[in-house]
Amino acid sequence: PEAITVGELAKRMGEKGADLVKELFNLDMMVTVNQTIDQDTAELLVEQFGHNIQKVSEADVDIAAEEDVDPEETLKPRPPVVTIMGHVDHGKTSLLDALRGANVVKGEAGGITQHIGSYQVKTKGGDEITFLDTPGHAAFTEMRQRGANVTDIVVLVVAADDGIMPQTIEAINHTKAAGVPMIVAINKMDKPEANPDNIRNRLLEHEVIVEKLSGDVQDVEISAKEKTGLDELLEKIALQAELLELKANPDRMAEATVIEAQLDKGRGPVATVLITRGTLERGNTFVVGTESGRVRAIVNDQGKQIKKAGPSMPVEVLGLGGVPSAGDVLTVVENEQRAREVAEYRQEKATEKRTALAPTSFDTMFNNLA
Ligand code: GDP
Ligand code: MG
Repeated sequence: PEAITVGELAKRMGEKGADLVKELFNLDMMVTVNQTIDQDTAELLVEQFGHNIQKVSEADVDIAAEEDVDPEETLKPRPPVVTIMGHVDHGKTSLLDALRGANVVKGEAGGITQHIGSYQVKTKGGDEITFLDTPGHAAFTEMRQRGANVTDIVVLVVAADDGIMPQTIEAINHTKAAGVPMIVAINKMDKPEANPDNIRNRLLEHEVIVEKLSGDVQDVEISAKEKTGLDELLEKIALQAELLELKANPDRMAEATVIEAQLDKGRGPVATVLITRGTLERGNTFVVGTESGRVRAIVNDQGKQIKKAGPSMPVEVLGLGGVPSAGDVLTVVENEQRAREVAEYRQEKATEKRTALAPTSFDTMFNNLA
């Protein structure tokens, strides 16, 4: 369904609009310069006027356009990726900290390290779970709008001493729109005024029916402060993950999604990414958004440098040419030349998008008119 106006095409061909209209008339098409024609007709016209079309397929230049699905037999189980959502002050940060605290303390022998926001936790049963620290619902929605559906499971935190608040409803709506399963964590159970059944009943009004009320949404009572119910929460996440049968191909060039990125004073542009498939290795060349780069270092959630990172791992990547945006996809490519080619192509497209009103696919198609 690509289309271009006759006038615009004439301009690009360096011909008169009226001449194109005349030619179209000869082809039994009655159109004016302001009307649109489809891609086939446009190509025909270009040829009629003796121009050569050098078609540049987007897939030849931009990896994002490549059809590239991993065969079933290459897929291996991967950990679930969890985002915690809920109303402000209901305990999202406390829960993230509590879950990590249990884990970080074990793995570390002194030494203060700077941790990245997202991390992995191991359940008692030995399952890995990835928690994403995305600052708020806006980030989740924005990432989704950009096609980055990295979250497998949402944990909805609701304070037992409060109720269903505006951002609780917002979180429910986002989760439903994303088609992602939800687990309700009823937090602050240590408080004397905690009333979990009230929360369960109120959730009914938003079509969230928890198990205790014979629904299929798992719920668990926790206290992020007293660190109670956390193992049960982790087990429920693992159970939910099992049902989802999450898989990815670890044996290929990596693809990752940028969770956050910033310019670090000492280290330059740094991105926290989530590996979505393949294995990222030090030295890999890549494209991310309109930037190319070479992996100088990979830092894991414990602040340690590692040589490679596989599916569902959140890691920091150093060696970027610039600061990408959250939701950008980092793709490893064969070599530096390819990385530069794709990055330059994207930069051009980004510039065109800003300046031109016409559909960009036509820019690609006719930008090499001889
Ligand atoms: P967020 O805005 O959802 O990230 O909420 P925070 O994690 O910042 O918590 C908001 C407030 O609730 C803080 O003062 C926490 O100490 C407190 N809080 C969080 N979890 C619990 C809990 O389980 N019990 C109690 N009593 N307080 C909690
Ligand atoms: Mg918070």
